Amino acid sequence: MYVRSKEIETLSLYIDGRSRPSGTGTYFDSNDPYTGGVWSRVPIASAEDVDQAVKAAHRAFTTGPWAEMTPTRRGRLLHRLGDLVAAHAEKLGELEVRDNGKLLAEMLGQMRYLPEWFYYYGGLADKIEGSVTPGERPGMMHYIRYEPIGVVAAISPWNSPLVLTAWKLAPALAAGNTVVVKPSEYSSASMLYLARLFEEAGFPPGVVNVVTGGGKVGEALVNHPLVERIAFTGGEAGGRAVYQAAAKAFKRVSLELGGKSPNIVFEDADLDDAVKGAVAGVFAAAGQTCMAGSRLLVQDSIHDEFVERLVAFAECARLGDPMHDDTDIGPIATRPQFQKILDYIEIAKAEGAQCVLGGGRAEGPGLEGGHFVRPTIFTGVTNRMRIAQEEVFGPVVSVIRFKTEEEAVEIANDTLYGLAAGVWTQSLDRAINLPARLRAGTVWVNAYRVVSYLAPFGGFKNSGIGRENGKDAIREYLEAKSVFLNTRRGVPSPFVMRLPSVEAQVSRSS
Ligand code: NAD
Repeated sequence: MYVRSKEIETLSLYIDGRSRPSGTGTYFDSNDPYTGGVWSRVPIASAEDVDQAVKAAHRAFTTGPWAEMTPTRRGRLLHRLGDLVAAHAEKLGELEVRDNGKLLAEMLGQMRYLPEWFYYYGGLADKIEGSVTPGERPGMMHYIRYEPIGVVAAISPWNSPLVLTAWKLAPALAAGNTVVVKPSEYSSASMLYLARLFEEAGFPPGVVNVVTGGGKVGEALVNHPLVERIAFTGGEAGGRAVYQAAAKAFKRVSLELGGKSPNIVFEDADLDDAVKGAVAGVFAAAGQTCMAGSRLLVQDSIHDEFVERLVAFAECARLGDPMHDDTDIGPIATRPQFQKILDYIEIAKAEGAQCVLGGGRAEGPGLEGGHFVRPTIFTGVTNRMRIAQEEVFGPVVSVIRFKTEEEAVEIANDTLYGLAAGVWTQSLDRAINLPARLRAGTVWVNAYRVVSYLAPFGGFKNSGIGRENGKDAIREYLEAKSVFLNTRRGVPSPFVMRLPSVEAQVSRSS
């Protein structure tokens, strides 16, 4: 059984290969979402700390061992890091649970899978190849090089801190960039622990730096003139602010934002699987996932039976200590998030949705310290209601009826978001043809919440810009450069000024 240490850990910034306190001398108290007590103190970086971190990353990019390292060797460092992450998976998982309250079983699963990102992109590091084009002018060779961009700012949220940071770090480093990471103030411990593993793996100082604190620290990082690429995962407001800041200085940017994903159950689905998929899709991690299947579209002919089975299954979920193996749903990660979920439950009730399960705070033995929300199911939801349009980020699902496939597609796409979608059907025709009609970056058929380092992930519409994961993600951390090489004498330009001959110049000057 896991025993929580009562000691409060004071964390440090990690800049240029060294741990150090923040210049502000102030800390953010990070609560354990299960006990409610402070368990770590997160330094709030000053503008000067951010400046030093970015300058360290810039130095490492331009001079020294990283700048001269062969791509094959970079790849080997990433492989070594993957091995270290595997060896420290348990510790990393525990740190994340103390920060965000997700189930230890889930976080251990994430940490044991995490090394694959470092192995995969480590393997790609020396496969970044330019090309020579056929050429169209005599004596003129043209080739294309792919070069790293420079200093990358990687900003991540609290819900899956390391996984979402690795999605940025692994391709950025494989491509030869250097990075300053800004984790969420609510979940910085695991990233600071990982920074030590980078050091142990042999990454030179300055290649990976970590500054902590809230949105203001993120802003200082994004606006630093030496940061050339920003990789952001978070909510819509933060994403918009980052996009605007990036636009001012024409910085390269990718945004992974929120969702209101439809999970569509057709009458020909295997209902046992669909019920399990619907529950896992929205109640796992207490609904605090960007890809939560929070709009459950159910075909009219099976609606009542499906809802009955859904309620019966979901009401068995055990709420409790996320460190325990027999807990199904843990606490909500932060107090503001808890309040936001409760507010949305009230909004849904006021809008006329029927609450058929849950509908408020969960209390009882073992739940005293944390912020627990009962798994909540609303029926009678129409797609125009706020509960169907706005991201709740909690264990709340809205069931929406549809009659035909056309109607299902129309409802599914009728949202500002476009992160993910699920389809439950036994029809081969539907399984093949429906994904193309859904405006979402990821579509699962008879599955939900599956991600892979091999599979591009990102959103349509307000769910973001760019893609993480997969082979092409490495291109997002590279600049293409065209080189024209003239192999003959003379200047082959459409405009060449006619210079006077040497004799004319001599006679003019004498
Ligand atoms: P958030 O936007 O509040 O914070 C995310 C990060 O951005 C934090 O590190 C925060 O300190 C920083 N930040 C906030 N404002 C900033 C600014 N103006 N400039 C620079 N940095 C700033 O999000 P959150 O509450 O931590 O996370 C929840 C949100 O993240 C949800 O909306 C969820 O859908 C989204 N999310 C998306 C994905 C995805 O892959 N699409 C994955 C996980 C979470």
